[in-house]
Amino acid sequence: MAKKKLLPLMLCMLMLFASLSGCFGNNIFIAEDKKGIPGGLTLACLSSAKYTSMVIEIDYESGYMPEQSSIDLLKTRLQEVCNKPNGIEVLLTETDFEQSSSWTADDVRNKAWQHKSTDPQTDSTLYWQALFPAGGYSNNDVLGVAVDASTVAIFKDAVEEAEGPFFSRPSAEEIENSVLVHEYGHLLGLVNLVYKSPVDHEDEDHPGHSNNEDSVMYWAVESADLSNIITGQLPDEFDNDDLNDLAGMLSGEIPVRDQLWMP
Ligand SMILES: [Zn+2]
Repeated sequence: MAKKKLLPLMLCMLMLFASLSGCFGNNIFIAEDKKGIPGGLTLACLSSAKYTSMVIEIDYESGYMPEQSSIDLLKTRLQEVCNKPNGIEVLLTETDFEQSSSWTADDVRNKAWQHKSTDPQTDSTLYWQALFPAGGYSNNDVLGVAVDASTVAIFKDAVEEAEGPFFSRPSAEEIENSVLVHEYGHLLGLVNLVYKSPVDHEDEDHPGHSNNEDSVMYWAVESADLSNIITGQLPDEFDNDDLNDLAGMLSGEIPVRDQLWMP
């Protein structure tokens, strides 16, 4: 029990010291309940031993529906890494969250669980939910957050403000594409959230993120001034180090902790 409590605590401390801590929310002291921490359902996604199908549940406030390109890209990226022989489906639901001001990590978690269509681990299907709410995160620099093992939120208003000034590149649509995959990457435990990579690719100033600007897990992807930091094309895929970490976790070569389900 004591060990279980310590890990999320340490993770949270690391987050507090990170300048861009908002990506995971400010409060992840809930690993002991069934919500888990980001990365807590990594093996459930990677493996097909129990969960043979997956649903991407998207609950959006009226006017905040995600771009079709974001949904398609996320599905493609998950299909590339998660073994789901019975398919990955998308469930889109317009939702009245009754909140349009500032969101904390707790708000995201509470509203998400109020509106989840079912338990994330239902029979042989895994449900990973994305909220697209109105309003922004308490820290305005944050475009998206991953708050527990099955829940992320994307703040579309902030995404639109982050659009590049020059010829609108990267466009808000491209940013949304990358941020959505980035947040699901945290649900996959990237980078080093529930394991320790044999390769040193975690950014030392931004825990939980890649130091490679060609990875969608690059730390600046979540940041409001990403268009000032990333000068070329926005990354929208996992790099080889990310992919090798996922493969190593699946094969058992890399030990994985804090899992809500183990093969
Ligand atoms: Zn992040």
